[in-house]
Amino acid sequence: MLENKKILILGMARSGYEVAKLLSNGNNKIIVTDQKDQDIEKVNELKALGIAFTKTSEPENILNETFDILIKNPAVFPYHPCVEKARNLGIPVVNEMEVAYHYINKPIKIIGITGSNGKTTTVTLIHEVLKKAGLPVHLGGNIGTPLSSIVNDLKENDILLLEISDHQLIDMVDFKADISVLTNLCPTHLDYHGSYEKYKEVKRKIFNHHTNKDIAIINAANYDSMELTKDIASTKYYFNNKENYIGEDGIYMDSKKVIDKKDIILKGNHNYENILVTYLVVKLLNINFKYVTEVLKEFKGVEHRLEFVRNINGVNYYNDSKSTNPTSTITALNSFDNNIDLILGGMERSQDFNDLSPYSSNIKKIYAIGEVRKRVMEFAEKNNIEAEEFETLSSAMKKIKEEATSGDTVLLSPASASWDQYLRFEDRGEEFKKIVNS
Ligand code: ADP
Repeated sequence: MLENKKILILGMARSGYEVAKLLSNGNNKIIVTDQKDQDIEKVNELKALGIAFTKTSEPENILNETFDILIKNPAVFPYHPCVEKARNLGIPVVNEMEVAYHYINKPIKIIGITGSNGKTTTVTLIHEVLKKAGLPVHLGGNIGTPLSSIVNDLKENDILLLEISDHQLIDMVDFKADISVLTNLCPTHLDYHGSYEKYKEVKRKIFNHHTNKDIAIINAANYDSMELTKDIASTKYYFNNKENYIGEDGIYMDSKKVIDKKDIILKGNHNYENILVTYLVVKLLNINFKYVTEVLKEFKGVEHRLEFVRNINGVNYYNDSKSTNPTSTITALNSFDNNIDLILGGMERSQDFNDLSPYSSNIKKIYAIGEVRKRVMEFAEKNNIEAEEFETLSSAMKKIKEEATSGDTVLLSPASASWDQYLRFEDRGEEFKKIVNS
């Protein structure tokens, strides 16, 4: 709990706003800064609570030795001048989740999920299952609901499910989860951390303060995860091992089939891994597997992540608008057998479409869109894939609706950011779904 402190909140957005409100009760003097203008209603709300907001791109000019603590937004780089200044002055640097953690004052169970990929999908699946089982569960963290906005609603024995990114873990100190999941590790966000080694060290913080009474869930097929967790004190449970694995026809727990693949709407081996984690968590919480089965029979995926939209006349439509680089599109291509009508392209960012070559045999036709469409056409030609170019998604969709035949999978997995034509990837996915449903 922070009381009578002078606090600088670096970066407002949702988490800065929520933590400022949380701290406003403790007679703290709080200044929130951001380089961008913020929602005026929220700024006024904070003002009414005695919290100042300053728009500045040089918050280091505000920070001085009179401050007690710096609360850094996860998006702010670790070597930002203001963060470096705080370190030089000996001012502790933490983040919103770490601060909010100290406001949990009842015995609850915390499940923390991190990993390079699959966090949102896994945490969402577990949340759906726990709700179905009638358990008192709260979902927050990196998924968009700051912990600061949840802590006051927690009751004894509630379950708190947190998606936690490396950008959050880096500034965690005392935070401890009872069940910690590491979905997988691969080199990513290296510009932020400086090296893969540093990134992995940060990820290991999900197991901080664990004793053998705490649980770690680890991907046995992921070498880097296994290496990183060799010496942790937690009691370890594994997926992708001899007992808990993805079989030809279904998901196996303790070497027994718990669900048939045909009963799962989610597609792709990566999603089956997320399902394995879900089963493992459910097992450790002593919940009946029937709730997982019920959820998997209706769960169409997290919005914009290989989300099943609809079947029209035998054609399946999938929205994977979140795919903003070729790696994600490879994952999507690996999730279907053949006859994929692929919508590819968006903003020019020098992305290398040739990365898709080894996975292109199941593509029936490419519909190239966006700023980068000429390069998509070159890639298609080089790989002998039928292709046609369109300026916009809507013009491509018009043609697809004429051409797609029963058995096809129409897949929006653009391997490109959306900013050439949209504000956010979510808008691109929404438009796709609207056209499919029209
Ligand atoms: P995160 O929250 O970690 O970004 P998401 O669940 O939002 O992960 O999924 C984002 C993308 O990552 C998906 O569209 C898919 O391409 C890929 N993905 C999801 N789960 C996994 C997994 N278990 N292993 C590898 N890639 C995955």
